[in-house]
Amino acid sequence: MEFKDFQFHPLVAAGVKAAGYNEPTPIQVQAIPSVMQGRDVMGLAQTGTGKTAVFALPILHRLMQGTRRKVRALVIAPTRELAEQIHKHITGLGSKTGLRSVTIYGGVNINPQFEKLRRGVEIIVACPGRLLDHMGQGTIDLSQTEVLVLDEADHMFDMGFLPDIRKILKHLPKKRQTLLFSATMPEEIRRLAKDVLSDPVLVQIGHTAPADTVSHALYPIEQHLKTALLMELLRHTDTESVLVFTRTKHRAKRVGEQLQKAGYRASSLQGNLSQNKRQAALDGFRDGKYQVLVATDIAARGIDVSNISHVINYDIPATVDAYTHRIGRTGRAAKTGDAFTFITHEDGETVRSIERVLSEKIERRFMEGFDYKKPAPARDREFVRPPRARAPFRPGVAVERGQKKRRAAY
Ligand code: AMP
Repeated sequence: MEFKDFQFHPLVAAGVKAAGYNEPTPIQVQAIPSVMQGRDVMGLAQTGTGKTAVFALPILHRLMQGTRRKVRALVIAPTRELAEQIHKHITGLGSKTGLRSVTIYGGVNINPQFEKLRRGVEIIVACPGRLLDHMGQGTIDLSQTEVLVLDEADHMFDMGFLPDIRKILKHLPKKRQTLLFSATMPEEIRRLAKDVLSDPVLVQIGHTAPADTVSHALYPIEQHLKTALLMELLRHTDTESVLVFTRTKHRAKRVGEQLQKAGYRASSLQGNLSQNKRQAALDGFRDGKYQVLVATDIAARGIDVSNISHVINYDIPATVDAYTHRIGRTGRAAKTGDAFTFITHEDGETVRSIERVLSEKIERRFMEGFDYKKPAPARDREFVRPPRARAPFRPGVAVERGQKKRRAAY
């Protein structure tokens, strides 16, 4: 099948050409005809498969007819990064159409959003919280919405957004086309799909296993040697762009700094950064200013940098789904990539679950010439904390602080 078989409006087809897409990806072949017919679709696909164009192109095609400057398509995404990425895809593919898209998310000044909405847009790409704010203030009118897209629905569930989604749904016309994408299908998403989709076409690509353009390897290592091993790997591997994942924000920041100190063009992306700093890290990584980006899962969700050659899991992700999402950052759109995962002796159970999903035993690798016996440096604060001076006892405060810290750790 070729793009011309979808019979997009010529100005949309011109956008596809300008984006350099030569032929549709498997999910595009499977799903675009149904979306073009106006059917509801449940897409089980991870990022990296080309799923954004599955909804973006038919939306642009549809909006070429009919009223302008009214919100007619609404895309809801879990993170600001993903929202920006979808918006970028839409404006890229729709560059010849004159259609307008705007992103709506929190953590940034709301006034420019008011202004753009006031001038009129056809497509909104939003995160749930800020969208509800706008709806509450009457600055968004969704009564003309013809298409609703829920992207990375499983991630929205993980982040506790489903109640917000249900609130938003109440304000949308009942008669509409709904497209729901999810990399995995937990029970809650099954239920949501049942409620929001009508007679949906199910499209499934690659199941929940990671894209097969990615090769995997595990590096058994002691916790305190991870940074040294990371540097050794970077020195000895032919890397283009490397995305490193850590379990906590603190660790992402710290590993990023250690790499910088060692002379790498590195930055970190984690939830404590302001939106501007996050964007700068992301843009710098995308345009090659940074060769290495160290990130947490939440911050990295939706990163679309097409030339990531390596994903390195400094810490193994907590679930198989998170593993799939992380390594979905490399090997995108049929490019190949490597996924390296550092494992300590505590990670055995997670490794076994990942291997079950991949249906293969992942190769264990050891770095030649690397000193695996080196003891933990005494001054390494990350792993060997110096004793703290005792704070005076204040009932309640310590517990509260501790809880807050745990909640904010990711
Ligand atoms: P997605 O899964 O939508 O995040 O897309 C992953 C990457 O593949 C993005 O960089 C897209 O621009 C790219 N892409 C999507 N469709 C195609 C296509 N048909 N040909 C080449 N690249 C594509």
